[in-house]
Amino acid sequence: MTSTKSKPRTKKRCVIIGAGPAGLGAGWRLMELGHTDFVIYDKNPYVGGLATSFVDDAGFTWDIGGHVLHSHYPYFDRMFETVMNNDYFTHQRESWVWIYDRFIPYPFQNNIHRLPVKALHECLKGLYLAAKGNPKKLRTFADWITASFGPGIAKHFMLPYNRKVWAYPPDKMNYQWVGDRVASVDISRIEQNIKTKRDDVSWGPNAVFHFPKKGGTGAIWEHVADRFRSHIMLNREVMSLDLKKKVVYLSDGSHDIYDVLFTTMPLDVLAKKQKDIVLPSAAKLHHSTVTIVGIGIAGTPPETLLTKCWMYFPENIAPFFRATVFSNYSRFNAPKGAWSLMTEVASSRYVPLPQGDIGALVLEGAKQTKLLPKGAKIESLWTFRSEYGYPTPTLNRDTYLLQTLPALEKFGVYSRGRFGAWKYEVSNQDHTFMQGVEWVNHVLQNEEEITVHNPAKVNGVKR
Ligand SMILES: Cc1cc2nc3c(=O)[nH]c(=O)nc-3n(C[C@H](O)[C@H](O)[C@H](O)COP(=O)(O)OP(=O)(O)OC[C@H]3O[C@@H](n4cnc5c(N)ncnc54)[C@H](O)[C@@H]3O)c2cc1C
Repeated sequence: MTSTKSKPRTKKRCVIIGAGPAGLGAGWRLMELGHTDFVIYDKNPYVGGLATSFVDDAGFTWDIGGHVLHSHYPYFDRMFETVMNNDYFTHQRESWVWIYDRFIPYPFQNNIHRLPVKALHECLKGLYLAAKGNPKKLRTFADWITASFGPGIAKHFMLPYNRKVWAYPPDKMNYQWVGDRVASVDISRIEQNIKTKRDDVSWGPNAVFHFPKKGGTGAIWEHVADRFRSHIMLNREVMSLDLKKKVVYLSDGSHDIYDVLFTTMPLDVLAKKQKDIVLPSAAKLHHSTVTIVGIGIAGTPPETLLTKCWMYFPENIAPFFRATVFSNYSRFNAPKGAWSLMTEVASSRYVPLPQGDIGALVLEGAKQTKLLPKGAKIESLWTFRSEYGYPTPTLNRDTYLLQTLPALEKFGVYSRGRFGAWKYEVSNQDHTFMQGVEWVNHVLQNEEEITVHNPAKVNGVKR
């Protein structure tokens, strides 16, 4: 997809806003092409954006939510191997759903034999119905769920879980983003699993994944940034932009002039920081907020969690929608003699965070769902809130994006990345890094940007 030998044909000055995976992807490719007239500004004192990691006072390492790599690109894989230099673990993906006071392996539909009998029958009946095909035209994500899995699984797992993770109603979301992100249905395999009571835990594109030995997910991006630190200006927030004059104004009072601008700040924020175009659609984009509560615990994980990676929680018994046994990703994520659980709680302007101390509520939920053994000694309770967590694929999202992104591009401003392009389906680390790489190839070599314009093509590649 990307030719590594080609030389740039222009001398454009590139200004990049954000040192997350997307901005660093742009920097990586510019360096590779020998185009050194670029600078990356970030308001944070660290690189990595949402894919950074922190070490708390008790010595536990935390990501901003469970980060699992499942790359769609050989180019991304080569970058990873180059910077990580074998300094990573490879894990078998093992995810579970906590429901009806028990764990069920994921994908849920393949393992309904573990459900209470009544729920099992409802789910199976629904699967047969779904297999017959659906005459109704699909409009929403909720429609897609029911058509794909049947009303039983929709009721017991898919609808409650998705309401919780998105903090937004699935019947107000589109379904075109789904691609390979949600496991599909294989009825004969499900019947066989029920007959033999067989657990079926591996599926799809991320059956194994790599994780840095030390430093959490953020270690990847620290290593990438190490290749061009002198081009990265931290603690520099872009306060406003003059699109006509092609100037960015920074929090330290300085300014910078560009030929082309790559911005990864949230698109709704960008729209407000400039006065040259009216962009009302940007304000209609919806996002969720994630609150991460990390629990550091003395001792070793209970038997039931020893090999688990992450678990989904569709029920209201716990405020979190997902919990990761983060010390299973790397023993260095916890100090010696301790282990760690990382939980994620979603909220939005539709669904507020539960009232009360979120740390205490998560601890109670972890007890109720048997994640925390009785008498567990808590060594750390780490909380982090990211206002921008998930870019919601609402029904009109694509219309809003079409009314916004091309208008900016007319001024040489390319809004990309998880919240710059607002496309959840291409908002993981591999996708966003490649959005940066492809942008460079576009502005310097006139190549097409595939990831941002054609997510289905990228996600459809079986690897
Ligand atoms: C809860 C959660 C779970 C995730 N799980 C996974 C996973 O399992 N696998 C995976 O691959 N990915 C995962 N991701 C996605 C991953 O974190 C993103 O792909 C990635 O961080 C997005 O990169 P980005 O560069 O587009 O944006 P960001 O990481 O958001 O970076 C944008 C940067 O721009 C900076 N910025 C914003 N405004 C300004 C301004 N005005 N001036 C200067 N700088 C500014 C910010 O400080 C930030 O550093 C997850 C994300 C979240 C939130």
